[in-house]
Amino acid sequence: MNKKIKILIIPKKILLYLIIGFSLILVLVLFNRYRANMMVWKHRENNNAPIKEYGNVAIIIDDFGNVEGGTLEMLDLKIPLTCAIMPFLKKTEEHAILANSKGHEVIIHMPMEPHKGDPKWLGEKGITSKLSTEEIKAITREAIADVPHAVGLNNHMGSKATEDPRIMGAIISVLKENNMYIIDSKTSIKSVIKEVANEYGVPVIERSIFLDNEKNISEIKRQLNELGKIAIQKKKAVAIGHVGPEGGLVTVKAINEMIQQIEGMGVKFVKASELFIN
Ligand SMILES: [Zn+2]
Repeated sequence: MNKKIKILIIPKKILLYLIIGFSLILVLVLFNRYRANMMVWKHRENNNAPIKEYGNVAIIIDDFGNVEGGTLEMLDLKIPLTCAIMPFLKKTEEHAILANSKGHEVIIHMPMEPHKGDPKWLGEKGITSKLSTEEIKAITREAIADVPHAVGLNNHMGSKATEDPRIMGAIISVLKENNMYIIDSKTSIKSVIKEVANEYGVPVIERSIFLDNEKNISEIKRQLNELGKIAIQKKKAVAIGHVGPEGGLVTVKAINEMIQQIEGMGVKFVKASELFIN
C-alpha cells in the first residue's frame, strides 16, 4: 500500500522541471505566433502602405508668358509645378491663370541684367543697375500686379543684378510687403539674394540643379535622377527647367518619363512654397 502511494507522489524536483519545461514550450509557441504575425504585418506594409517620403522636390519651370513651346503639355504634367511667368508680356496673364487653374504654383520670372547678353532679352521693364532704387521697387510692384496668383519670384538671367545688394534689397523689400518668397536661380555664384533675403526675413531657397542646360532627353533624365539624389541627401531640392526653345517638349517628356522612378526613390514632388514648411 505504502509503495503504491509513493509511486503516485511526484518528487518536488521533477515537478519543478516539468513546470519549467511546460513554461518554456508555452513561451516558444507564443513567440512563434508573434513572429508569424509580424511577418504578415511587414508584408502588408511593404505592399500596401504608401511610400515613406524622404525628400521633397520642387520643379520650377521658367519662361512662361513668352513663347508657346511646350507650355500646354508642361501644364498637363501630373505633378505640382512652380511656374515662373515673365511679367509684361502678351501671354503673361493667360499663362498665370491657366497654371493656377491646373493646380500649379505661380511665381514671377523677373528679367534682370546679366553681365553678358543682349539688353533686348530683358524686355522693356528689365531690372538694371541704371535704374534708381525707387524705380526698381515700382517695377517690382507692377510685376506683382501683372502676374495673377503669384506667391514668389525668381530671376530671369540676372548674373549682374543679383550680385548687387542695392538692387536685390529694393526687390526683396517689395516681396516682404507682399508676403512673397524668392528663389535664387543662381545665374551667378556671387549672388547676394540669400543674404539680403535673410536680412529682410523673406523666405529664400537656391536652385540645386538646372534640368535642360543641354536640350537632350537622356541628359535631362540624368539631371532628374541627380535631383532625386540631392533631395534624399538634403531633404529638399529645387530644379529649374524651361518652356520654349531652351527646353519645352523635350523637358516635358523627360519629366513625364521620370516621375515614377523619382517617386520610387522616396521623393515627393511639391510646390516651391511647401519647401519652406519643415
Ligand atoms: Zn528665364
